[in-house]
Amino acid sequence: MRALQLNAPQQPPELREVPVPEPGPGEVVIKIAGSGACHSDLHIMEWPAEMLPFELPFTLGHENSGWIHELGAGVSGFEKGEPVLVYGPWGCGRCKRCRMGMENYCEQGMGASGGGLGLDGGMAEYMLVPSARHLLPLGDLDPVDAAPLTDAGLTPYHAVKRSVGKLGAGSHVVVIGAGGLGQMGIQFLRALTPATVIAVEADEAKLPRALEVGAHHAILATDETVKEIFARTNDRGSDVVIDFVGMDSTMLLGSQIARPLGDLTVVGLAMGTLPFNFFAIGYEASLQTTYWGSATELMEVLDLARQGMVKSLIRRFPLDGAVEAYQLLREGKIEGRAVIVPHADAGL
Ligand code: NAD
Ligand code: ZN
Ligand code: ZN
Repeated sequence: MRALQLNAPQQPPELREVPVPEPGPGEVVIKIAGSGACHSDLHIMEWPAEMLPFELPFTLGHENSGWIHELGAGVSGFEKGEPVLVYGPWGCGRCKRCRMGMENYCEQGMGASGGGLGLDGGMAEYMLVPSARHLLPLGDLDPVDAAPLTDAGLTPYHAVKRSVGKLGAGSHVVVIGAGGLGQMGIQFLRALTPATVIAVEADEAKLPRALEVGAHHAILATDETVKEIFARTNDRGSDVVIDFVGMDSTMLLGSQIARPLGDLTVVGLAMGTLPFNFFAIGYEASLQTTYWGSATELMEVLDLARQGMVKSLIRRFPLDGAVEAYQLLREGKIEGRAVIVPHADAGL
């Protein structure tokens, strides 16, 4: 089968011919419906060898949906052909956090990897999933449309949910970066909170989309952004700021606009730094990064999608268009999420 593999650091990925995986005991092979192209893949492609936490090569694609293709010995509860979502961070499955569904924060440190992140992912015709516990039945949702829920959905859902307590009536939240994740973040904020949502985007072309998915205000990132945010928050600053970029300038902006007792959550992996001192952020404001989300949160994301409360705007590409999809993402030309569809019968 064909698979889009990352073979060497700082080199573009390549389509290669590799064997179709076979499931061992307890494992499952899925036929890929959709595999989302995440901006994290661009970071991974750019990082030098010493920053890469993974061995190469591996097949890209950590945001996956598909149909059960083959069940390994001892796997029950799924039928061949059944549509499924793949929960992406694959922990040890035995530690306390894994048992609570938080495999992203596995105590054995395994949660940072998964299919498409160090292990073979979904930008291929088939993908090996090492345990049926990583699969969620999709039901009636279109499997290609649903693929981004597993990361572009789950990651902002987790970031929003942990701050919901600070987003009561009359509160404000700023979303920095309204791309694949940010657009979903705005929808979760609207679904879960009564807060006024302000999107800040560097690309003027993305502002209408931010409003369309539910932001009350969408403003261009400029030298005036801090002033504009204060003007829109009764001069208080924002109760919560979620930074879906993570570069020097966005983290600085976040630190300037998060109000005392607020949250500044950095989700973006642009690897910026934020100089810290006593006055760097509002008193008792919390600064944190988040990584992906839990399996139970993915179930909640799926429920919201089933209710039609959140939806990712997707653009479909065939497997041999994956390199182009990443190039367009790099240039900021993907409006929502690019999803690679390896089998034309899934609907291209
Ligand atoms: P994307 O390219 O779809 O969206 C990024 C958006 O940020 C774009 O719309 C871009 O125009 C905007 N932007 C860039 N610079 C900006 C600035 N200075 N001010 C305001 N907006 C700016 O990317 P994505 O797939 O949504 O990913 C967003 C980030 O989240 C990436 O860094 C990615 O690696 C990271 N990520 C983190 C996790 C996690 O678990 N922490 C999971 C997935 C992705
Ligand atoms: Zn990702
Ligand atoms: Zn674990």
